Amino acid sequence: MLRFAVAGSPHSTPSPGGTVEGLLQAKKLGITAMEIEWVQNVPKNIERMAEIRETAEELGITLTVHAPYFVNLNSPDRAKLAASKKRVLDALSMAELCGARSVCVHAAFNLGLPPEKVLENVRRATEDIMKHKHALFPHVNLAYETMGKQTQFGTLEEVLKVSKEFDNYPCVDPAHMHARENGKVNSVEEWNDMFDLYQKYVGSKSLQQVHMHFSGIAYTTKGERKHLPLQQSDAKWKDFLKVLKKRKIDGVVVCESPLLEKDTLLMQKTFMKL
Ligand SMILES: [Zn+2]
Repeated sequence: MLRFAVAGSPHSTPSPGGTVEGLLQAKKLGITAMEIEWVQNVPKNIERMAEIRETAEELGITLTVHAPYFVNLNSPDRAKLAASKKRVLDALSMAELCGARSVCVHAAFNLGLPPEKVLENVRRATEDIMKHKHALFPHVNLAYETMGKQTQFGTLEEVLKVSKEFDNYPCVDPAHMHARENGKVNSVEEWNDMFDLYQKYVGSKSLQQVHMHFSGIAYTTKGERKHLPLQQSDAKWKDFLKVLKKRKIDGVVVCESPLLEKDTLLMQKTFMKL
């Protein structure tokens, strides 16, 4: 059964908040998945990870993780590149400890380089990261995300290429694709093309265990400006849900609306009624 994840602890989580409290609140609301937002930094507390894992297991909540934003696997600066790889590895190893199944990563900024060169740099960094899979994150998927700005690495085909090579699956964010392509990717036909390409690269079985993002989005000709609530955006989100249903997509769709649980539940309820 496809799960809709809230992007971080629900707004209604009682203070002092935190991931464990957030999980309890999500359960109360009827939400069955959560993306843990380690976007500023990755926690190091191992006991805390065990606590998250136990709580999520007990409540039957599926976990994914969002890695820090401060990552550029295309950095020409050796120290920055090393720090980027370390942040990704930290997120993957802590995800392993807390029982999350996949970690999404904003892989790189293009910095004016041709896309083929960026792809090669990301590929090389990924090779270094994946060397540690067996020891540090054997059960966790490294999911490069499709990105909303043309200045970023992350067209659908780019993330699929690298994912395929290392036996991972990407984090497809159709809202980012919609923004990056200036209003395209907002119809049943285009989403079907998107899933066809996904399937072509990483196999039809991988559509049974997706890690995706979805939300409304504001954009300019330069791409993404900010995420929006579903009902205040031009996203044909109900049509998107129909495609998910029709193709029997399974796994986790993280709702990245600023309304958090409100829109997660809206997606979930609408999907159930289809
Ligand atoms: Zn993201």
